[in-house]
Amino acid sequence: MNKPSDLKLHTVPAWISGRTHLPAGRAGDVYNPATGQVSKRVAFCGADTIDAAVKAAGAALPDWRDTSPLRRARIMQKFLQLMQEHQKDLAKLIVEEHGKTFPDAMGSVMRGIEVIEFACGAPHLLKGEFSENVGTGVDSYSVRQPVGVCAGITPFNFPVMVPLWMFPMAIACGNTFILKPSEKVPSASMLMAQLFKQAGLPDGVFNVVHGDKEAVDAILGHPGIHAVSFVGSTPIAKYIYETCARNGKRVQALGGAKNHAVVLPDADLEFTADALIGAAYGSAGERCMAISVAVAVGEAGDPLVKLLAEKANTVKIGPGDREGMDMGALVTQQHRDKVASYIDSGVREGAKLVVDGRGLKVAGHESGFFLGTSLFDQVTPKMKIYQEEIFGPVLVVVRAKTLEEAIALVNANPYANGTAVFTESGGAARRFENEIQVGMVGINVPIPVPMAFYSFGGWKNSLFGDLHVHGMEGVKFYTRTKAITRRWPHQDTPAPGFHMPTMG
Ligand code: NAD
Repeated sequence: MNKPSDLKLHTVPAWISGRTHLPAGRAGDVYNPATGQVSKRVAFCGADTIDAAVKAAGAALPDWRDTSPLRRARIMQKFLQLMQEHQKDLAKLIVEEHGKTFPDAMGSVMRGIEVIEFACGAPHLLKGEFSENVGTGVDSYSVRQPVGVCAGITPFNFPVMVPLWMFPMAIACGNTFILKPSEKVPSASMLMAQLFKQAGLPDGVFNVVHGDKEAVDAILGHPGIHAVSFVGSTPIAKYIYETCARNGKRVQALGGAKNHAVVLPDADLEFTADALIGAAYGSAGERCMAISVAVAVGEAGDPLVKLLAEKANTVKIGPGDREGMDMGALVTQQHRDKVASYIDSGVREGAKLVVDGRGLKVAGHESGFFLGTSLFDQVTPKMKIYQEEIFGPVLVVVRAKTLEEAIALVNANPYANGTAVFTESGGAARRFENEIQVGMVGINVPIPVPMAFYSFGGWKNSLFGDLHVHGMEGVKFYTRTKAITRRWPHQDTPAPGFHMPTMG
């Protein structure tokens, strides 16, 4: 592996007030997961750089909040067009730093672009309510006003899509924004910042800072930041939520997942197995909506495991920029080894390892962070591979006798991001949809990621906070409602009132 100090590598800077800013001090390595080499460095921001970003965002706020939603939307439309033109460039950066395949990266950029399309509707989305004559000669109405300076802290697994869940919505609503992307995948955010400036966004409305806990803590503790959106693992999500609440900031913190697919005996098993293979191993399982547990009900078990094993063995694994690959490398060596250690633990705990991905070597890419597909059968809820989020290409099969038992299993899990049921029965699907305690549900759809005009978010340990991202919940998160009650003085005025006013 390269020693970064031996090389003259590009260092990814921050983006503050519409230009790059290279802070002195700590920096991190950015890897190309397919080769295992350090490809660039990223400058970590300390409290002083975060403060500079907050000052820039604060200075840009008064003009931006007073820019009409229609004008904001016109800039957003231009940004949309530039993002569409640069979809391939963004996907290429994702492949280089994350390791997923190019078509998968293209799809994830498109899912993010859809949020920009939704945010272009700002003039409509920001309409308030109006009631005439709530009392005699008295009208009431509500308006949605921006929250202020908002920050977003995002994970490594969707370097474009997850930031796009946040900043187009926040900015369309009249806020200014500071993005702290994952330090493992810093480059795509920089390209988005440049494109947004090119679209006509005033300097300081969108800023990008990089770094680790030090940068995050500076964001959480800064009094000039009014709202924080976070997406990442559950322990950090909880920490973000608690710290922001203590510091008086509005917060939404999306956490980790353990998504179950319940397969009923009447399901089309060939279709189901194909769906599960894609959902479990696509993006090397590094998706918060990946299916990591298949709950095989009754007689579905044996034939399902047989089909899954056959298909898991045919998944094509290699560098993300090679054509025809189904799955790329994992993000870092450390993460690859952690996922492999879960497979060791499953074997130790007595689960049946049907497909073992630990031995995979990709010719010509021996130093890449690759791991093959793994499939466990006969997994029980007591096992670590069932209880913890693995976030890698490992699918575990748990057997259940009935739909009722399967629903109880899913509902007992502390994570509740996504889930799916596979069945031909409308009645069973309806019961599942009604009783399951999970934020996003698929019926014969393995990864039910809602479109941008719906909201995305889990329940329980998969989301701390009240509001999901994008859709109308995103609009609510990035605005404060002001309710106004008015009357005009030339109308009849009563004598001064000392009691709680009632209308009518
Ligand atoms: P992570 O929690 O390690 O990091 C997320 C962000 O938090 C990064 O920007 C990182 O720099 C920062 N961070 C890391 N450690 C920190 C600390 N100790 N203090 C303060 N900040 C810290 O997550 P990750 O490994 O980048 O991403 C994978 C996780 O994200 C998985 O758990 C996955 O399920 C989750 N995820 C959830 C969703 C969702 O919608 N619920 C979507 C994508 C990913």
